[in-house]
Amino acid sequence: MKEIDIVVPCYNEQEVLRTFYAETCRVLETLPGYVFRFLFVDDGSKDNTIVIMKELAQTHDNVKYLSFSRNFGKEAAMYAGLTYADADYVILMDADLQHPPAMIPDMLAAVEEGYDCCAARRVSREGESKIRSLFSQLFYKLSNHMTDVQMPQNAVDFRIMSRNMVDSILSLAEVERFSKGIFAWVGFSTKWIPYENVERTLGTSKWSFWGLFKYALGGITSFSITPLRMVSILGFLIFVAACLYIAGTLIQTLLFGIDVPGYVTTLCAVLFLGGIIELSVGIIGEYVAHIYMEAKDRPIYILRQTNLERKERPRGNHSDSVL
Ligand code: UDP
Ligand code: MG
Repeated sequence: MKEIDIVVPCYNEQEVLRTFYAETCRVLETLPGYVFRFLFVDDGSKDNTIVIMKELAQTHDNVKYLSFSRNFGKEAAMYAGLTYADADYVILMDADLQHPPAMIPDMLAAVEEGYDCCAARRVSREGESKIRSLFSQLFYKLSNHMTDVQMPQNAVDFRIMSRNMVDSILSLAEVERFSKGIFAWVGFSTKWIPYENVERTLGTSKWSFWGLFKYALGGITSFSITPLRMVSILGFLIFVAACLYIAGTLIQTLLFGIDVPGYVTTLCAVLFLGGIIELSVGIIGEYVAHIYMEAKDRPIYILRQTNLERKERPRGNHSDSVL
């Protein structure tokens, strides 16, 4: 029988966890011939999420949990789950039932058909604020323009992946992870299944606008160096403009003498260049920050407790041996 691990990142999901488990199991019961296992990842929840996970684990053998020492973010939770998953296929889904478990049979059918991956794509964004949808659209436009990897708009982190694809994802050892980009970057054949957005009925969304903004910025800068190139090109264009201006001013001065008024021109030039320099330093700073975080090579998450056998720090292409 084929094994399937279901990785579920959870942060303060006490209201929904039991319902999620029950609803998902109802769907899984219709799929004989597979062995399912739940890998709940408690991302440092401040409520009773871990208590519920332990309760579920006590009554059901197929429930495993990993609990972090603090909140490391959904990316870290997904990574931890994928690291511990060792099944033939791995399903990644949210705990809040916004990813309908009823889609699992279709997704499974797709990978059995030969796809390496089957993922869900929202066709509507109903129930989401206009401004969030707008910024999300802008992000995908910008990002797909600037990077080689194409991320389908409205793709959500609800997917089933083959062992091969999961291993490839884990081989990308970066600390600052942007999974939407990583999924696209590793390639493999992916079938997209559309679905209507489901509103969250229990618990609350964990994303703030600022949080999403930082996530999007991190996503672009970790997959594209186009912003850096733009800084160089901008610098070059300004240099050319400055040369032309200097030449023009010199000729004018030689022919007609010195023209004293120039206050506005000077002020504009200083402000404009100041702005451009600030912007450029900022963009370069974003990349330096990435290098800094990667160079420190800290673990992506720290486990506090689990009912699985602990793995040694598995990340990276380098071994963990002491120097
Ligand atoms: N989540 C997490 N760590 C976080 C934030 C969220 O593990 O720091 C989990 C959360 O419990 C849920 C999933 O990620 O299962 C998606 O979060 P949420 O529903 O808040 O995001 P949205 O659906 O609004 O994009
Ligand atoms: Mg949600």
